[in-house]
Amino acid sequence: MNNNETKGSGNNPNQPGQPNHPSQKPKDKKRFNLMWIYVILFAVLIGVNFFGRDNVTPHEEIDQGKLVEMLKKQEIGKIELVNHEDAEVYLNEKGLKMHFPDVKPASDGITKSPNYTYKIGSLDRFEEMVENTQEGIDNPVYISNVKRSNWVSDILAWVVPFGLLIVFYIILMRGMGRNMGGGGAGSIFNIGKSRAQLYDKNTNVNVTFKDVAGLEEAKVEIMEVVDFLKNPEKYTKLGGKIPKGVLLVGPPGTGKTLLAKSVAGEANVPFFSLSGSDFVEMFVGVGASRVRDLFNNAKSKAPCIIFIDEIDAIGRARGKSAITGGNDERESTLNQLLTEMDGFGTNSGVIVLAATNRADILDKALLRAGRFDRQIYVELPDIVGRKEIFEVHMRGLKLGKDVDKDFLAKQTPGFSGADIANVCNEAALMAARKGKNEIDKQDFLDAVDRIIGGLEKKNKIITPEEKKVIAFHEAGHATTSWLLQYAHPLVKVTIVPRGNSLGAAWYLPEERQITTKEQMYHEMIATLGGRAAEQVVFGQISTGALSDLEKVTKQAFAMVTYYGLDEEIGNISYYDSTGQQDYSLTKPYSEKTAETIDKEVSKLIEKAYQEAISILTNHRDGLSELANKLIEEEVIFGEDLERIFGKRPWGNSEDEKLKNAALKAAEGEPEAQPDNQPENA
Ligand code: ADP
Ligand code: ZN
Repeated sequence: MNNNETKGSGNNPNQPGQPNHPSQKPKDKKRFNLMWIYVILFAVLIGVNFFGRDNVTPHEEIDQGKLVEMLKKQEIGKIELVNHEDAEVYLNEKGLKMHFPDVKPASDGITKSPNYTYKIGSLDRFEEMVENTQEGIDNPVYISNVKRSNWVSDILAWVVPFGLLIVFYIILMRGMGRNMGGGGAGSIFNIGKSRAQLYDKNTNVNVTFKDVAGLEEAKVEIMEVVDFLKNPEKYTKLGGKIPKGVLLVGPPGTGKTLLAKSVAGEANVPFFSLSGSDFVEMFVGVGASRVRDLFNNAKSKAPCIIFIDEIDAIGRARGKSAITGGNDERESTLNQLLTEMDGFGTNSGVIVLAATNRADILDKALLRAGRFDRQIYVELPDIVGRKEIFEVHMRGLKLGKDVDKDFLAKQTPGFSGADIANVCNEAALMAARKGKNEIDKQDFLDAVDRIIGGLEKKNKIITPEEKKVIAFHEAGHATTSWLLQYAHPLVKVTIVPRGNSLGAAWYLPEERQITTKEQMYHEMIATLGGRAAEQVVFGQISTGALSDLEKVTKQAFAMVTYYGLDEEIGNISYYDSTGQQDYSLTKPYSEKTAETIDKEVSKLIEKAYQEAISILTNHRDGLSELANKLIEEEVIFGEDLERIFGKRPWGNSEDEKLKNAALKAAEGEPEAQPDNQPENA
């Protein structure tokens, strides 16, 4: 009874703890095991110390003189030679009386344990010495040989190093296993296994398109992927090939992972998720074998989706910096990935989605047909997108009546989806901290401030003043290009930051084989329109026009020195199509001509700039209207320009159709005319 009670109370404190911390248990166990290993190690070391030494109390060492003296006096009972190293001296009755009067001899008149030790140098000489010393003495002492082995220390001498090696190995493997995280961790045999996390029917992917706000165009494209997975026959029947790889390109936190997950959720197929860096390990060949394993797993679960986040970790262009060995490993991993993607048939039902924010640094081989030949751009959300993201993330929140999503969307330019999710969570936490029943507007504003604090360090945030300047700048480009006959008419402008540019404009380029002087001049005016608008509206200019100026300067220089379009220089081209001349050292013209060129170039640019100023001054109202619309909506289209400035009188009837086509094309090509923002801006 008593026993039972103590047992019970001893178990009890553990039991309630277990359900509360289910994750703690295995960890503790591991700790425990490791602890034992340390304890055993410690014990072994002590044991070695203890057994390794002589377990007999050490006895006095004597020199040759004393030994000889004792031999002569016949005080020695016997000499034992231990392992040919030490001579142990046992005294007889006489000797004991002389040196150890307290010790009683055994029945044969000799001590039981040796009294002295003598270290021998050479065995022969020792024996000789003993013999010579006792010459003429009756009953001389003889040397007896003893072999004594300490088996404990002998065994330990073998076992300990092995044991240490094994322990070290185990610790190493465990350490790696812990880093590896995922399934079957901790075992050396699993190192080449893929570490993809699998979401399937058991671990429900319950993310669907409903959870992804905005990103309409991306959704449409990715919807196709869902369709491929759901009814592949529809496509293969006609001989079409289902894409194997889709690359999601965009800045971090814009919902690439979310989008990929939602595809799996929509198509209701298993979803393997892993990061590019998961392939990389310090052992050669592991990455490649993980890739192989991943694809084998995937094929057995087809139809399914493999999602590789941050594919740049393995997909960076090869052979650029082949100095360290790590690159070789990365290359072989990438090669394996390419091989696998080539290897599986188009209708095996495995689609690889990959995410990166740097499509430009990826190896070209990855983007080739049959691999990641589709790219979907996932950009930072504009004001409408941000509102929708707020809606998604406010679903589960208890909101106060004064929370206004439109207002919040306006307050968060440059925020990514992840930032907005963060705002919502932060606001809820703040309200809870203050003991409120619902989250009100102020909580959201505080949360926004807090997130902005973090973003400012990343240089991502745009102040309202900057936004205004950017809006007028872009509106300046739009207005001038719309009002000039030979400039490319504008299709779309945004002031949502992309990469390191603050805004972007898409124009409808005409297909020209040759360009007239007039056309080039008009394009220069439109390019300068951004800076001119800043001048006209704010009376001051900014550094935001760096790339505009660079473009215009190059163009003017080309007009004067290459195309022979300048009156002063005349029909001369200093262009060298052979590329043989090194003009950086010797110029093919005189100093005087050089001066003329400089003068003409700056005259041309200045003339274009004044022209831009005059256009914008004359259409100041339209410019303001456009800029305000841009501030409000962050994006404007050709239709807005048409409404404000009227139809372009010289536009052809095909315009509309082309415009729409170009708009579609432009969606996938954000390289159109970015406005760079230099660091110091
Ligand atoms: P990425 O993979 O592009 O870096 P994620 O997909 O991991 O970004 O996004 C991180 C989080 O941000 C998501 O889990 C989600 O909560 C939120 N988020 C991002 N974009 C959106 C969006 N368009 N709609 C809703 N939530 C979003
Ligand atoms: Zn510009």
